[in-house]
Amino acid sequence: MATNNTNQKVIVRFPPSPTGTLHIGNVRTALFNYFFARKNDGQFIVRIEDTDKARSKKEYELGMLEDLTWLGLSYSGELWHQSERTEVYKKYLHKLIDEGKVYISQETDGENKEVARFKNPNKIVTFEDLVRGTISFDTTELKDFIIARNINEPVYHLAVVVDDFESGVTHIMRGEDHISNTPRHILLQEAIGAPQPIYMHLPLILAPDRSKLSKRKHGEQVSLGYYRNKGYLPEAMVNYLSLVGWNPGTDQEIFTLPELISTFDISQIQKGGAIFDEKKLEWINKEHMKRMSITERNKNISERLEKIGINLDDISSKLENPSLTEKLYPLIFDHISKWSDIDEMGRAGELAYYFDSPLYEKDMLVWKDSNPDEAKKHLEKVLEILKNASEENFENPEKTKSLVFDYATENGRGQVLWPLRVALSGKEKSPDPFTLIYILGKDESIVRLKTAIQKL
Ligand code: GLU
Repeated sequence: MATNNTNQKVIVRFPPSPTGTLHIGNVRTALFNYFFARKNDGQFIVRIEDTDKARSKKEYELGMLEDLTWLGLSYSGELWHQSERTEVYKKYLHKLIDEGKVYISQETDGENKEVARFKNPNKIVTFEDLVRGTISFDTTELKDFIIARNINEPVYHLAVVVDDFESGVTHIMRGEDHISNTPRHILLQEAIGAPQPIYMHLPLILAPDRSKLSKRKHGEQVSLGYYRNKGYLPEAMVNYLSLVGWNPGTDQEIFTLPELISTFDISQIQKGGAIFDEKKLEWINKEHMKRMSITERNKNISERLEKIGINLDDISSKLENPSLTEKLYPLIFDHISKWSDIDEMGRAGELAYYFDSPLYEKDMLVWKDSNPDEAKKHLEKVLEILKNASEENFENPEKTKSLVFDYATENGRGQVLWPLRVALSGKEKSPDPFTLIYILGKDESIVRLKTAIQKL
């Protein structure tokens, strides 16, 4: 239910300044506004606050809008650009000047200029913040603050107040870092005769060491783009960021966007700073990955493999092992919690041995304090077992396990399984030998065992 007192339609806004890439704190602000609007059948509007000409860039704006689309957030109405609304602000400025609420003041800092200053009524401003409670502020300390650098260049404070008024904004939900701007905005609202919207200031997102998550200190990790590049799902970013500073009041942790809209409740927004935990994000991401269809999963895996130069279909046809692709997808899926983990697997050499004969030193085949002869003996035995087994014994890892497991148990698991695994993967660490035999198939497993035996 709408919490505004006049019962009018809820209108909220997300007004990013296009002076950089979209910060995850901004994403969370956008999400909360979006949920609140949708839940109340209201409107979520977006406007571009590009009054800072020197720092605003079109490419940042386009990137931000694209990020919103990626997240699945659509906005109502047209997109306003403050840079295109100079005439509107000018109208308000003139009126305020005429009414004696704003005056032009000559400033000389280096050069002579005429700035517009707001005649501060010097009073106590009090507002009810729905997150933080009653907030009172003595505006005297703000002095006669500047609202335009010249008649054509309003500063942020004036532009925000005019735009929120003209678009009928009812609720302003924004980062706590804007709390100190609110008294100025309230004074300006009173001056232009705008109703006061309801304010909610959201807690900041903190790094694990409780410092403010900032670009200067934390680099790209503050940008949504960083997580997009890592291959996190938009569903997971939406889900996780919603839980940073808000809790649903139940144990539920995995939410879809529609579920968030229906569950979101501003009374559960916390006051204190909220820690961003990438491990938790990874876990949530994996949960959403598990909810994807197998086709969708495989498509993503295949695209990511392509990016690191692995075309599984080509490889499997070259190796004459058409089932390699279908066997490898679930295995890769089990090992990752975001798509970029596939790059890591590639870098760590955890993929190559499925398609290329492994290179390794003979010594690696020998288990702990065992010796080459012992390793050779066991590998020869396993080779025999594999040779004599029919194709259907290779249909899944349980079946390949039952081929060798009894022998391994009787002769020492480490003694048998270690050299077997190394012969197949050439790695200190890899999936177990039964999985490897299953994926490589009978013929390739036999070839690799023979190579290992020769080494010994
Ligand atoms: N343009 C401001 C920002 O990106 C928005 C401030 C507000 O929500 O009023 O931080």
